[in-house]
Amino acid sequence: MATTDRARRLAEIAGAMRLARELIGHDRWTEDQLAAHQRRRLEQVVRHAAASSPFYRERLAGLGPTDPVELGQLPTVDKATVMDRFDDLVTDRRLTLAAVEAHLDGLTGDDLLLGRYRAMATGGSTGRKGVFVADRPEWRQYLGGFLRWNHYMGLKPRLPRRLRIASIAAARPLHMSYRMAASIDVGLYRVLRLEAATPPAAMVEALNRHQPEFLYAYGSVLGLLAAEQLEGRLRISPAIIASSGETHTDELRDAIRSAWGTSSFELYGMTEAGIIGSHCERHTGIHLFEDQAIFEVVDERDRPVPAGQAGHKLLVTNLVTRTQPLLRYEVSDMVAVAPEGCPCGRPFRLLAGIEGRNDDILHLPAAAGGTTAVHPLALRTALAGIPGLAQYKVVQDRDGLHVRVALRPGADPADAAHLVATRLAAKLTAQGATRPAIEVELRDTLQDERDTAGKFKLVESRLPRPTARVP
Ligand SMILES: [Zn+2]
Repeated sequence: MATTDRARRLAEIAGAMRLARELIGHDRWTEDQLAAHQRRRLEQVVRHAAASSPFYRERLAGLGPTDPVELGQLPTVDKATVMDRFDDLVTDRRLTLAAVEAHLDGLTGDDLLLGRYRAMATGGSTGRKGVFVADRPEWRQYLGGFLRWNHYMGLKPRLPRRLRIASIAAARPLHMSYRMAASIDVGLYRVLRLEAATPPAAMVEALNRHQPEFLYAYGSVLGLLAAEQLEGRLRISPAIIASSGETHTDELRDAIRSAWGTSSFELYGMTEAGIIGSHCERHTGIHLFEDQAIFEVVDERDRPVPAGQAGHKLLVTNLVTRTQPLLRYEVSDMVAVAPEGCPCGRPFRLLAGIEGRNDDILHLPAAAGGTTAVHPLALRTALAGIPGLAQYKVVQDRDGLHVRVALRPGADPADAAHLVATRLAAKLTAQGATRPAIEVELRDTLQDERDTAGKFKLVESRLPRPTARVP
């Protein structure tokens, strides 16, 4: 069994490496070649969905076999619908949400469901947990994307003295980052794997011992580690750093550069579509991998938002999956596409910024009456640069705002709490909110606030969401 497993894995990796070379070749495509490829793939996934998914057969009933497939005419779909209609949406009738959840429940390693499907769950950092499946050809596409990302970073195996890698992310096999690392792990690297929720002191000790040459972590973890390095407790010198999972602020980027003299390769990935973007060596922004998915930046009413402006959400059409088709799938990330291409010449558009998630927008009573929406970016700007502040999280309930704060060793708790409360209040009133009640709660660490995938949610509202669904 073990031999078969290893043989299967090696065959998968070989296939993914061939595919990665092909994907890397797309760097030389013109915009027209990319657009033609997208049209071809879109046609295939839409026809397949209409033919093999009862959910899409119903949704795409108006699309005749000879009608042209126009992306903008296709219905959008959100995560709640994808989960509610899971059994009808997938194209293999043996796959049911109940069966997939039962499989995930007992998952210990890189096991396949029905001998062909990898099932994964999202951490639930954006509300409802999502469950997604990929068959073996689809997984090869995801692994190919993963290897392309390694190529962007200049990460390659080295023998006989194997490269030392540290990966600080999800430590459970039901999450995609774990599965990618596991299915590619054939002993080419010396890997230290830590859970994102590990207490900082334990992380520092393990990293000092391992001395990674490549370090991958969620943005919020990298922020903690950069502070540890700058304050002298952490002593590592990774040549390559990569990060994902949460919004990167300029403050975080500066801290990474001061700590290690290099920029992080920021990665954009999601369980629904694999690795969907990465920095190139220029670090000018995240290139969207538009050969594996189509991205539309839109407002609340799904209208396209021009380059340079942040949208309210992102619609992602996965060009890789056939098993669980996702067409114009709503993602709550508020992103802006850069108006100009990257000087590297790749045809993939750049993200100028990921400004946070639209479910991190706080709705507060406005001084002028009604409510005002406060963008997560405003909260981050307010709290940026407070000395000694290691982590924070804003919780809104009926009593007002509670800011949970963890400080770095040696910081003055009274000073920090005062600065957090006054700067936040000033920012919120400047945004038009009535002066809210703000309570600052000092904690030793907020590492236990992470979700099951290890991700950290900046804002958590315990009030009912405003029912401003637009028609
Ligand atoms: Zn570039």
